[in-house]
Amino acid sequence: MFGTVIHAPGDIRLEERPDAALTAPTDAVVRLAATCICGSDLWPYRGIESVDEPRPMGHEYAGVVEQVGADVRDIKVGDFVVGSFATSDNTCEICRAGYQSHCVHREFMGTAQAELTRVPHADGTLVATPGQPDPDLVPHLLAASDVLGTGWYAADAAQAGPGRTVAVVGDGAVGLLGILSAKQMGAERIIAMSRHADRQKLAIEFGASDIVTERGEEGVARVKELTGGLGAHSVIEAVGTQESMMQAIRSTRAGGHVGYVGVAHGVSLPGEELFFSGTHLHGGPAPVRKYLPHLIDLIWRREIEPGKVFDLTLPLAEVAEGYKAMDERRAVKVLLQP
Ligand SMILES: [Zn+2]
Repeated sequence: MFGTVIHAPGDIRLEERPDAALTAPTDAVVRLAATCICGSDLWPYRGIESVDEPRPMGHEYAGVVEQVGADVRDIKVGDFVVGSFATSDNTCEICRAGYQSHCVHREFMGTAQAELTRVPHADGTLVATPGQPDPDLVPHLLAASDVLGTGWYAADAAQAGPGRTVAVVGDGAVGLLGILSAKQMGAERIIAMSRHADRQKLAIEFGASDIVTERGEEGVARVKELTGGLGAHSVIEAVGTQESMMQAIRSTRAGGHVGYVGVAHGVSLPGEELFFSGTHLHGGPAPVRKYLPHLIDLIWRREIEPGKVFDLTLPLAEVAEGYKAMDERRAVKVLLQP
């Protein structure tokens, strides 16, 4: 099979690799209908995360089950499935509490920008769609695998809902789908923080009511101005930098909630400011598996179109160009067709 390998920052190659195969009786092998490049894949690509040796890439996936291990009961060969970037048994105490991304048997997917991928704990990780999807549904289902699930978790962790004003820091795919999620949860007002015209347009399409183009302290001041000086009830942080995290915390009113899902790089929080902020902080890797049945249902009934975040589609063979396009901000998110 062909699969994506990163050799060094900026050096992405599609290579011939051994076919994905079952290694445990709870595994499945999935033939990808589509996969994509994540904002977090840019961390090693940009050298912010080290690349010590060549390694495969990709953790977002949707496709057809090709093989299942002897202990897989619920998932069948031929099922069209969507799975989370974090695998889970879906039975341990942590999973049952709704934190499948912290499952005691968790593994992080990392080989999905390929023709085939192995999925550990198939029954607890994968969710089958009601049937084979129409081709136009595939990008939306793929989005559920990470970016939609993560945006949904951020909105949930920030307690978006009726009567709430939600501010969203970050206008990448996760931030944009945080807007869609907050809208689905009934948020009254959604403030998108974005300075890119094309992303603002999608933010409004997904349900944003206000756009704030200022960043940092000016952005915080603008959110306060829009919320009677108090700050937002719910703030989604979808970047992962010191600046974005502080922008999120400072944009939140006392008693409000920050849902942070941008993978933190070099973030350190000032204790004294946190102490006096009176805000709730919750986030981390999203328990996408918890939300997948609901998200698949919304997509299947054509109530949401999260796949609109894919603004560039390339054949898997052009994966290197896909990384380049996202790195240079020519694309919000790249879908790859094996
Ligand atoms: Zn578990």
